[in-house]
Amino acid sequence: MMHKKYQIHEYKKINLFHYDTEIDNIYMKIRFQCSNLNADQFKFNFISTPKCKQYNKNRQETIHHYFMDCNKYTQHRNALKQNIISLDNTFQTLSNNQLIAIIQGQKNNLVENSTYKKIYQFIKLYIVLTGRFV
Ligand SMILES: [Zn+2]
Repeated sequence: MMHKKYQIHEYKKINLFHYDTEIDNIYMKIRFQCSNLNADQFKFNFISTPKCKQYNKNRQETIHHYFMDCNKYTQHRNALKQNIISLDNTFQTLSNNQLIAIIQGQKNNLVENSTYKKIYQFIKLYIVLTGRFV
């Protein structure tokens, strides 16, 4: 379900998300693994199964599944990866695990702080476009 605030013609206005507290909060919860993803909800005994209810019903809906595996979001995932690579060609060689580490904001030598801020905008765009949380 697409959030009503975000219409199709606004998809590319990525700066819209820069000060969006709602999306910031969702992303923060994902990073701290207390989000509405089923693996997180299951961990806190809020639901009875951690499995994905989208396309991959035999998989747990973890951060990794949501960002890297779930077939429902392939199109948006490809756009996310292309957007990230557009910032720096060397990012083409990043593995999925390295991307997840970046998404989770783990300290590493791969990404400059200024680049992180741009990547976060793309991640928040992914969160909006997948419609999983809003
Ligand atoms: Zn899935």
